[in-house]
Amino acid sequence: MSALVLADVDLYYHRVQALDRLSIDVQENEIVALLGNNGAGKTSTLSMISGLVRPNAGSVTWRGQDLAKLQPWDIVAAGLLHIPEGRRIFSTMTVHENLLIGGYLVKDQKLIRQRADEAYALMPRLAERRSQQGGTLSGGEQQMLALGRALVGGPKLLLLDEPSMGLAPLVVKQVMQIIEHVRRNGTTVLLVEQNARAALRIADRAYVIEGGSVAMSGTADELAADPRVIEAYLGA
Ligand code: ATP
Repeated sequence: MSALVLADVDLYYHRVQALDRLSIDVQENEIVALLGNNGAGKTSTLSMISGLVRPNAGSVTWRGQDLAKLQPWDIVAAGLLHIPEGRRIFSTMTVHENLLIGGYLVKDQKLIRQRADEAYALMPRLAERRSQQGGTLSGGEQQMLALGRALVGGPKLLLLDEPSMGLAPLVVKQVMQIIEHVRRNGTTVLLVEQNARAALRIADRAYVIEGGSVAMSGTADELAADPRVIEAYLGA
C-alpha cells in the first residue's frame, strides 16, 4: 500500500503556479527521489506535505489520512519530519542539545537518550563533537546533526531537501549512507536532490519534476539509464 499519495495537486503562490496536477506516491519503507532543476517545484512539494503551504486542488494523504486538513505541528506529531534546505540547526546550542531537541514530542526521556546514542553510533563525528556549538561544525557535520536531530524524533517519513548541497563528494557519500541506514531501520524517505547521481544511487524509484508536474518516473536504475536523464541531469 502507498504510504504517501499526492494526487493531481495544484499549488499557487498568488498567481504563480508552482505545482500543476502533480501526482506522486511513496510506498512504505521506500527511498523515493525527486529530481529536477531549480524552480521545478521540489521544495514546494515538501512544504506542502509538511502543511506549510496548502494545495489549491488535489489531495495529499499519508496512510490514508488527509494531510491538507492537519496543522504543521500535527503532521510532525504524525511522524513526518522535514529537514529543510540549509539544515537550520541551532548554532549556539551544543551538538548534544541539538540532538535532544529532536525529541521534544517524545515523552519517554530514556527513549530520547537511547535514540541520541544510536545517532552517535551511526555518526561518530557527532559523538566527538558532542559538546561543541552547532555553528562551529562543518557543512557535512551540520547535515548529519540535522539528520540525527530528526532521528531522535523517531520519524516514520523523512522529507529531505537537498541534503548534499555544498558538500564535498566524500561527505555526500557519507550522508547518503546514513540515509540508507535510516531506511533500513524502517523509515520511509522522500529525497529532493539536485545531485541526481547521488540520489539515484540510493533511491528505489525517482520522479523528474519539470514545471510543477512529473516529466519522468521509474525505478532508479531505469532513470539512471534513460538518455534524457543522462543528458539533462547526469552529465555525459
Ligand atoms: P529550488 O531547488 O530552487 O528550491 P524547486 O524545484 O524546489 O527549486 P520551488 O522552490 O518549489 O522549486 O519553486 C517552484 C515555483 O514556485 C518557482 O517558480 C518559484 O519561483 C515559485 N515559488 C516558490 N516559493 C514561492 C513563494 N514563496 N512565493 C512565490 N513564488 C514561489
